[in-house]
Amino acid sequence: MQPQCDVIVVACIDFRFQRALDTWLAAHIKHGNYDRVGIAGGVKNWDVVMPQITLAKQLHNIRRVILINHEDCGAYGAAGTREKHEADLRAARAAVLRDFPGMEVDLLFARLAGGIERVGV
Ligand SMILES: [Zn+2]
Repeated sequence: MQPQCDVIVVACIDFRFQRALDTWLAAHIKHGNYDRVGIAGGVKNWDVVMPQITLAKQLHNIRRVILINHEDCGAYGAAGTREKHEADLRAARAAVLRDFPGMEVDLLFARLAGGIERVGV
């Protein structure tokens, strides 16, 4: 039988956000029910991220993608305004939906102060 989970989570490697991410995941996603991708810049490196989502769909039949960028991301540097992050997250969502029209895609933005906020689509 094919192993299955519901969700893939994509977030930056940045150590400063791992505790907040773990807490958010524990509150919102059942443990053991998600694939997890850590990559510098989150959706910034889309050419690397998208194949992971495709594989998670093929291997685990995920139904939901959670994309998380964050404040003060070194991979973005000075270009990493809130507007830039939100634009990249929305473009990433559109790209997921092109390949997987029925997929649920959540966009999140993590703050240095600890909160994780939803980004409107
Ligand atoms: Zn980062």
